[in-house]
Amino acid sequence: MIGGAAVTEEFHPGFRNSVASYTVSLLNPRVIADMDLYGRGLRIVERPISNFLPLNGTGHLKLGGGLARTQAEFARFSTHDAKVLPAYYAVLDEVGDLLRRLAQQTPPNVGDGISGLLRTLRQGGQLASLSLARKSSLLDLFTQSARSFLDGWFESEPVKAAFGFDSIVGNYASPDTPGSAYVLLHHTFGEVNGKKGAWGHAIGGMGAITQAMAKACAGQGVEILTDAPVRQVLVDQGKAAGVELADGRRIAAGIVASNVNPALLFGKLVAPADLPAWFRTRIVRYRNGSGTFRMNVALSELPDFTCLPGKSVAEHHQCGIIIAPSLNYMDKAYCDAKAFGWSKKPIVEMLIPSTLDDSLAPPGQHVASLFCQQFAPRLPDGQSWDEARESAADLIIDTVNDHAPNFRASILGRMILSPLDLERTFGLTGGDIMHGHMALDQLWAARPVLGHASYRAPVTGLYMCGAGTHPGGGVSGNPGRNAAREILRDRGILTAIGLALRGR
Ligand SMILES: Cc1cc2nc3c(=O)[nH]c(=O)nc-3n(C[C@H](O)[C@H](O)[C@H](O)COP(=O)(O)OP(=O)(O)OC[C@H]3O[C@@H](n4cnc5c(N)ncnc54)[C@H](O)[C@@H]3O)c2cc1C
Repeated sequence: MIGGAAVTEEFHPGFRNSVASYTVSLLNPRVIADMDLYGRGLRIVERPISNFLPLNGTGHLKLGGGLARTQAEFARFSTHDAKVLPAYYAVLDEVGDLLRRLAQQTPPNVGDGISGLLRTLRQGGQLASLSLARKSSLLDLFTQSARSFLDGWFESEPVKAAFGFDSIVGNYASPDTPGSAYVLLHHTFGEVNGKKGAWGHAIGGMGAITQAMAKACAGQGVEILTDAPVRQVLVDQGKAAGVELADGRRIAAGIVASNVNPALLFGKLVAPADLPAWFRTRIVRYRNGSGTFRMNVALSELPDFTCLPGKSVAEHHQCGIIIAPSLNYMDKAYCDAKAFGWSKKPIVEMLIPSTLDDSLAPPGQHVASLFCQQFAPRLPDGQSWDEARESAADLIIDTVNDHAPNFRASILGRMILSPLDLERTFGLTGGDIMHGHMALDQLWAARPVLGHASYRAPVTGLYMCGAGTHPGGGVSGNPGRNAAREILRDRGILTAIGLALRGR
């Protein structure tokens, strides 16, 4: 089916959900406009608040719903944290604005001579426009652990957990891992309907985005083949010549653009003889494995949280429900995963999109996405995810049940996606939801490999256009948009219309 990891499926009779990616924010408004996605039926609604964290015992914390409201909520934990919140948001806002701009630009490519140098100067100039204070924050965000960064701002553990959760989403790491602060930032520079940093829901699920994109393609005469896996990228004398499908069909093309994980593209689909030896070595070292376990559940009723009782739809059901009450909890989950495969106290985010969208479940019933972090990409001691997936799923359900005791009994059906299932079903190498670790050594001019950050592979005419390129994972459209611009540039079209000089 069309859509990669942004699809909606019926996973239990009468119950549909976004089965992999499940919430929208990073989708670039220019992509929405270029492809007229709203005109083609896409509708994105905002969550009333961002997050709800049931805490140990009977407490809880809510995040979002406006600055004043969040400050009042934080003040229940720390007046200091409430006071510094506007300044914290101002930093994320300003740095986020810069990254949002850079996300839409091709990174400077090492080895590109004058054009690479000009791009470096242009992007360096944008960095230079930040004040010294903001430059320091940027340095912190790129190099520090999420804990070090958040410790510099806040004192309350639940507040740090609410923000720190973003640092381990799709990141098989501890909030103590240097560089995890960047992953936190990566999840904040999106927007919904013009509201920066907000997360929303696509009516009909994430598949509504890719279905609208498919309509836009059809309007341009694009033919999309499904059930047509590529076996090999054909290369003739160092130039892309097309693809060969698994069924033996050959499609000739002078330009091939691939959005699969670079490790999959260069490890399996391009013959080793067609790649420089040093490049092959780098790709073998490309780090994959986000440690993500994903479930979809069909529910007869909403979870009734001990800390905030009630089974009727309320704002805390309509946001990201995070079970990870402290940075220590998240660190332990990672350490346990390294030692045993996963933690007895796993990190779970639950989203119940049917509280915002009645097209997904029968009236009065619901669907929930369970998005769980720190499940080892490969299990230790020769265990296989095929044997372990059901027990891990049971533990995840028990974990939610500890906070909402009607949860287990309300489950009518479940779909399990272990890291191995994510690899098999969606072609995600190592089950990596981001197509490769989002760490400094694999970002910007080094994504996926230094010298090949401009979407061009070391084979003329072969381009990379997926999440394994700048700016990385997420349903953003940015890698594809940037790659398309470079392809047009190589064909001389942009030069002809003068856009190349603008360097966008
Ligand atoms: C469980 C999960 C949760 C996520 N949650 C979110 C979220 O809430 N919000 C968000 O913004 N992002 C989220 N993401 C990340 C986001 O979905 C991805 O970063 C994004 O889909 C990447 O898009 P892409 O086009 O680069 O690649 P993909 O969406 O991975 O598409 C690659 C396509 O290539 C196909 N393919 C693989 N091998 C071959 C072959 N040999 N021949 C032909 N086709 C092939 C695959 O089947 C797939 O259709 C999530 C991802 C996952 C897996």
